[in-house]
Amino acid sequence: LIQLSVPLNLLGTVYREIKQSLVDMEAMFDLLDQPPEVMDKPDARPLEISDGHVEFDNVDFGYDPRRPILHGIEFAVPAGRRVAVVGPSGAGKSTISRLLFRFYDVTGGAIRIDGQDIREVTQDSLRAAIGIVPQDTVLFNDTIFYNIAYGRPGASAEEVHEAARLARIHDFIMALPDGYDSVVGERGLKLSGGEKQRVAIARAILKQPRIMLFDEATSALDTKTEREIQTSLAEVARGRTTLVVAHRLSTVVDADEILVLEQGRIVERGRHADLIRAGGAYAVMWARQQAGGDENEAAEAEVRAA
Ligand code: ADP
Ligand code: MG
Repeated sequence: LIQLSVPLNLLGTVYREIKQSLVDMEAMFDLLDQPPEVMDKPDARPLEISDGHVEFDNVDFGYDPRRPILHGIEFAVPAGRRVAVVGPSGAGKSTISRLLFRFYDVTGGAIRIDGQDIREVTQDSLRAAIGIVPQDTVLFNDTIFYNIAYGRPGASAEEVHEAARLARIHDFIMALPDGYDSVVGERGLKLSGGEKQRVAIARAILKQPRIMLFDEATSALDTKTEREIQTSLAEVARGRTTLVVAHRLSTVVDADEILVLEQGRIVERGRHADLIRAGGAYAVMWARQQAGGDENEAAEAEVRAA
């Protein structure tokens, strides 16, 4: 009995660790509002990533088959380039990013990374290749260190601090009474939207994925924080294939291609200057944001929320 107790304790520890990571996975799905309904194929192989070329090939999708959301979405993000998706709320922008992370399977067409259909590869290898900064970051009820290191389990303190520095959250953390040991999340310290997003950016920096997926926060951030975060995001994204769902058009001016999405269809596409010249939907959105319409909307939303 005594001899047995050691291995049993060890087993207990391993079990707790496995369980914790399952809990974390569930928390991720909860936050992203997605059921873990996608399964690996029995013969799924790991994604073999070379330069990170992303391709949406005539993609159709609906959460409910009776209600199609995306129609014939066709674009590529060449390795190391940046493509932005813009458009009104409800157009299907976040759905595109969820499909790339394979929270759902497409109902028509295919999504490929370096020529491999993402339905044919293991989800672990797919998700390891993609760094995601979601619209609304979920934090685990754990230390802020754990929350950042989650991007790459086993990272050293030095690496975690460096990632936090690049995400411009290190100084904030150091000023907390418990520093990196501060417990955050529902039952701990509540962070603001901008602080949580910077934690997500730090995670992504630590992960160093080939592909970056950003779903920009909307009115949750003030202009100064937004600008700081843009700088951090630009640093993370340098040289990586990046798909960004953009709210503020000022952040897409340099994109290699901008897709304008309306009701699940790409209605316009091109570089910023071309779209302005075309004088279509994008040009109208741009003019409205330049006039400060967006800030007014955010301010109104705050007043309503108060
Ligand atoms: P955007 O990011 O452009 O605001 P979304 O991609 O979030 O738009 O949503 C596109 C459409 O899909 C909306 O009509 C939305 O109501 C619907 N939708 C989003 N998520 C779900 C879901 N989990 N289940 C059912 N419908 C959804
Ligand atoms: Mg969205």
